Amino acid sequence: MDNSVAALTSLYNRIADINNAAALLEWDQETYMPRGAANARAHQIATLRALGHELATSDELGQALDAAGEANEASGEEDGYATALVRVGRRDYDKSTRLSPAFVEESARAEAHAKSAWREAREEDDYSRFAPHLEAVVALNREKAELLGYEDHPYDALLDQFEPDTTTSDIDAAFSELRDQLVPIVTALRGRADGRADILRRSFPSAIQWKVGEELIASIGYDFDRGRQDKSAHPFCTTFSISDVRITTRVDPNFFSPAFFGTLHEMGHALYEQGIDPALERTPLADGTSLGIHESQSRLWENLVGRSAAFIDFFFPTLQRAFGDSLSDVSARQFYRAANAVKPSLIRVEADEVTYNLHVMMRFELERSLFEGALTVADLRDAWNEKMRDYLGVVPTRDADGVLQDIHWSMGAFGYFPTYSIGNLMASQFYDVADRDLGGIDKHVSEGRFAPLVEWLGEHIHRYGRTKSANELLRDITGGGLSASPWLRYIRKKYAALYDVDLD
Ligand code: ZN
Repeated sequence: MDNSVAALTSLYNRIADINNAAALLEWDQETYMPRGAANARAHQIATLRALGHELATSDELGQALDAAGEANEASGEEDGYATALVRVGRRDYDKSTRLSPAFVEESARAEAHAKSAWREAREEDDYSRFAPHLEAVVALNREKAELLGYEDHPYDALLDQFEPDTTTSDIDAAFSELRDQLVPIVTALRGRADGRADILRRSFPSAIQWKVGEELIASIGYDFDRGRQDKSAHPFCTTFSISDVRITTRVDPNFFSPAFFGTLHEMGHALYEQGIDPALERTPLADGTSLGIHESQSRLWENLVGRSAAFIDFFFPTLQRAFGDSLSDVSARQFYRAANAVKPSLIRVEADEVTYNLHVMMRFELERSLFEGALTVADLRDAWNEKMRDYLGVVPTRDADGVLQDIHWSMGAFGYFPTYSIGNLMASQFYDVADRDLGGIDKHVSEGRFAPLVEWLGEHIHRYGRTKSANELLRDITGGGLSASPWLRYIRKKYAALYDVDLD
């Protein structure tokens, strides 16, 4: 390795160690930390995060990037580690140095206030309490978009933080196809696709749910020697190293879905992180390349595999043995229908696979309008309710079940929501190609053979980390860009058969 590339790498190693140590403290905060430690922990995390940010925006790093960039250019190499490190490092460096420490601090303060105002407003079911704080956060995000820079649309700059190189118009194109075709599908399924969902709300002892979930993900390929699963209020996946990728889940003894499908979801994220090429360890390349790609991996396992007839046929006997009486009068087919019940509802995180993207799409449209100046924070609640009526045919009677349901806006995370649907769409795009390459994934899954799919994902996606961008992965695998067509085809085929409805 060239000297200047080695010097850059060793700077990044230090930054990675500091950030990963902070992440470990954050993991502990959500899992085992005693309540009394909250204040001390907040200081420890803030100090480490500030230190990491200082190094990541230092002149020393800027110079090291310049030197490594020049050496790499002189070498004529175009595809290797050094090229990727300089490209990704330069991108991160430019983004983070465009925001001054004073701006970052002001945003953090406004978001902290907005977050507690959001909690209170939600509890009191009163949007007007949150609105002034949201106003401040939106104003700061407008400023942020200007500081970060964009070509066409201020929202592009915000989106780019989570989904690099994807623009508002890319999403517009994919989402308008989605909207035009999905709204009629949801209407056609209305009232027909309940599928006795109550089957999933019987008694499922927590300890058994835990054991079933862990055994399943171990058999799929999650490596417990390089990870572990714990409980937390909100499930997540976090990484301290390619050899330490942890997931959390929550268990409801009277509801099967959150732990089971949540565990499959987080496992999908974890397989991605565990599958990154170990040579990239302790560099910025050892990470998921975008939130959309990350979410494509979790949704693929949760929905395309976990909620498929092939998987449920294979796994249902295990569930019946594990849960005894609770499932003794249920057939695999009934269980499959219950796991795929469709019902327009108010809450995004509880939405089924079909209606979920409509929840995301309306948030995208509202955000875009806010940053175009076509919508004001004062009118946001009414705009929300109107879109719910148009897309899903249900209207919240409480703000807590409507505009106040998600934490994201209070945290200033504008541009984040679309990545959920981008993930769903990409999952189907990748699945179709893998299905062809592997001669039918269903056949493998119905026999409990998961290795071929895990290996395919590792080979085509996981191992690259950030050395390939999301758009490069899409192009190399599918030959094109983001598209809603494969997902729409999948939904039509699955639900027309499942509920005997014509969806064409
Ligand atoms: Zn996820």
